[in-house]
Amino acid sequence: MAFQQDCLFCKIAAGDIPSTKVYEDERVLAFEDVNPQMPVHTLIVPKSHYDSIADGIPDEEMGHLFNTVAKVAALKGIDRSGFRVIVNTGDDACQTVHHIHVHVLGGEQMNDGSPKAR
Ligand code: 5GP
Ligand code: ZN
Repeated sequence: MAFQQDCLFCKIAAGDIPSTKVYEDERVLAFEDVNPQMPVHTLIVPKSHYDSIADGIPDEEMGHLFNTVAKVAALKGIDRSGFRVIVNTGDDACQTVHHIHVHVLGGEQMNDGSPKAR
């Protein structure tokens, strides 16, 4: 889908709003979360706009997005220690930015993975 005028992450992906870049290629941008919840908290977005994981994302786009996770983990130095990947979707999951984004979280020991934990 195309650039959405009123979408924060479309603007960040296009470079119209600054971010701290971790990784970029023709399809995705990974950048530091402005309000990190962990020592490592990086977001990955596709440059094309999709509201959420439930927005009918083509397999190729989805595969590319999720294959970027390991690249980001390696770049951030948490590929060996471990990390958590979260994709908040919809209101119950507190999705606040309605452009799909993958949270990559790590850098310290986490709890056992309660679904309420970030
Ligand atoms: P959600 O709750 O939708 O899964 O996560 C949205 C994330 O985007 C939050 O972790 C929030 O801190 C981050 N965020 C919101 N606005 C900005 C921004 O302008 N720049 C950056 N880098 N991150 C943002
Ligand atoms: Zn968007």
